[in-house]
Amino acid sequence: MTQYTDLALEQFARPTAVEVDLGNLTHNFNAIRAKIGTAKLMATIKANAYGHGLIPVAHHLERLGADYFCVALIEEGIELRKAGITTPILIFGGLTMAQIPLYLEYDLAITAPSLEKLAHINNVAQEMGTIAKVHLNIDTGMARIGIRWQNAHKLFALAQTCSHVRIEGVYSHFANSDVSDLSSAYEQLENFKRALAFFQDNNLKTPMRHIANSGGVLQMPDAYLDAVRPGIALFGIYPADECVQSIPLKPVMALRSHVVYFKVIAAGTPVSYGHTWTAPQQTRIVTLPVGYGDGYPRALSNKGEVLIRGKRYQIAGRVCMDQVMIDIGWDEAYNGDTVTLIGEDGENQITIEELSEWANTNPYEILTTFNTRIPRLYIHAD
Ligand SMILES: *Cc1c(COP(=O)(O)O)cnc(C)c1O
Repeated sequence: MTQYTDLALEQFARPTAVEVDLGNLTHNFNAIRAKIGTAKLMATIKANAYGHGLIPVAHHLERLGADYFCVALIEEGIELRKAGITTPILIFGGLTMAQIPLYLEYDLAITAPSLEKLAHINNVAQEMGTIAKVHLNIDTGMARIGIRWQNAHKLFALAQTCSHVRIEGVYSHFANSDVSDLSSAYEQLENFKRALAFFQDNNLKTPMRHIANSGGVLQMPDAYLDAVRPGIALFGIYPADECVQSIPLKPVMALRSHVVYFKVIAAGTPVSYGHTWTAPQQTRIVTLPVGYGDGYPRALSNKGEVLIRGKRYQIAGRVCMDQVMIDIGWDEAYNGDTVTLIGEDGENQITIEELSEWANTNPYEILTTFNTRIPRLYIHAD
């Protein structure tokens, strides 16, 4: 936490950083909490906390009182435990049989998506003389992992016979909760409830039920059930353009660099690999030390924009692996000037959503593609 906190950008050897605003993370967490009422908040922080840095984000959310953490991979769960995180952790991903002892050793809740895997989890836990924590995964329409909802009763019945498994939860996942037509999402919710009727029908206590991702949290209060699993909304980004912005969110990530080179080029001068851009008239070009080798999409070549001194300028030519050139026309910019590739500068702002449109992808991919070559700078920690 203290490592990068409040360090000026200039102190890094490399003047490029992903800036993570923990104050905005607090705002989003509290805003989601206020919306979901008594449902538990399972903070989804897979893929390096959507690019924001797994451990600092987890420590911050643990202080805020997250009820659960969810990650995709067992490696991510182990990293959290090794960093001292004591909050319950659920691993979403399909497990391999060989991983089961590690789940038990690190006190990670296992996703059980089939009869075979549940039985195996029970056997391993029995051999190790311990109790496995399990969330049963039901496929209600995503067709990724999970037993199909029509057969879920078999998994529930098997669970009753597993003496070394504690069923902490039952969950499903929406395929279409962030769009304006929610009919398929509501059908999934209905399928989930039909499957869950097993518990009432057999006079059994229903385990913690959860299905809502960010789209569900923003658009489907009926889907909050006992717990919700927002990911991208915690980081202040709406999952899709169409999604109702029912909670005011603030973007957590900014990306800033510095001008490291300045030059004047004559009309007709081509710029960067492939010479795909040529100066229409004499102009000024600045170079930034950031590129697709950092996760800044190459698809932004000749398309993306950045802010310098509060004003927008376009990328000239192809984005290189480690550098990118910007046409600033006849305006002024000097070596050392801050350049905002994502975030606010003065009146102006460049959003993750804009980048995802320019790169023809979604905000999730933009966030998670920034790699560890870019230092993370944590601000507003208190
Ligand atoms: C990624 C994921 C989430 C969170 O999704 P967001 O759209 O980022 O809120 C929730 N549940 C599961 C199973 C996931 O894989």
